[in-house]
Amino acid sequence: MLGRLGVREAEGGNRVLTTRLAPSPTGALHLGNARTFLINWALARQNGWRVVLRVEDLDGPRIKPGAAAGIERTLRWLGMDWDAGPVVQSADLTPYEGAMQTLARAGRAYPTEITRGEADDALSAPQEGGAGGEKRFPASLRPAGWGAARVFTAAGAGAGAAGVAWRFATPDVPVEFVDGFAGQQCINPAQTIGDFVVWTKRGVPAYQLAVVVDDARQGVTHVVRGDDLLDSAARQWVLYEALGLGAPPVYVHVPLVVGSDGRRLAKRHGDTRVDVYRDSGVPAERVIGLVAWWCGITTSRGVMNAIDFAAGLRVDGLPRGVVVFTQEDDQWLREV
Ligand code: GLU
Repeated sequence: MLGRLGVREAEGGNRVLTTRLAPSPTGALHLGNARTFLINWALARQNGWRVVLRVEDLDGPRIKPGAAAGIERTLRWLGMDWDAGPVVQSADLTPYEGAMQTLARAGRAYPTEITRGEADDALSAPQEGGAGGEKRFPASLRPAGWGAARVFTAAGAGAGAAGVAWRFATPDVPVEFVDGFAGQQCINPAQTIGDFVVWTKRGVPAYQLAVVVDDARQGVTHVVRGDDLLDSAARQWVLYEALGLGAPPVYVHVPLVVGSDGRRLAKRHGDTRVDVYRDSGVPAERVIGLVAWWCGITTSRGVMNAIDFAAGLRVDGLPRGVVVFTQEDDQWLREV
């Protein structure tokens, strides 16, 4: 039976409920990332979930040296803690290779040299566009005999030779789940995105595969993250099924912080990196206080520590839409 946040209550008694903080070390945390992590951490501490810190560093070209250590320091500075990790994805690729072998043997993934750009050319109707501006990779572009059992090798000889991406043969079925914030969802990933990459031609697992393998092996029961990944949840759901990993986690997708122009918080909105505020003397309690106001915990900006934030956060109290970061927010932080 599903309770608040969709926690499977019947199983909760003998299972360790677990969540993860999963930063990508592509740069320093900004205020929007800090809000999502604080919400995740607060829900964990309220509900007694175990917290795993997982560094998602497989996105090679975008990873910045030193960013993981900087993020860890910022999370601690804000008052967050975790029970396990950091677990670094790039440290050991064998679990992901094992999952690829499972998919390949079952004929559910195939190597292909067709890129998304070429797939775009093959699609004429504008409604063929997938989620988040990505183009759908339709089943019609699968190679002949795509469903045959194959052998996956991460590098070297065979069908999985380095340099060739592998795609998941996405089943054409709607995925239905209740998101702990966004509510009832019905997403058919075959219609929104089609066959997505599970192993990149750079020879590393793609995000969707890595996140599923890790959530499963780390016993993650609750995923709390930005709603830019809501559509990904359906892809992850079908991978759970294809890999025989049991029930996917409960998902809680919260809206992002945007700038005054309505676009996702980024450099164009000024320097909103948490460590830059810290280094200019802004106390952690001010950052948390701003985030608390953004989360509906308080009715005006004030100072707050992480413990009071964790005690005060209510999922039902979070604003339903995006949070807008304004110049006044920046000025208030710096009023010290
Ligand atoms: N590493 C991802 C990010 O920073 C989060 C992935 C996830 O939570 O599933 O956007």
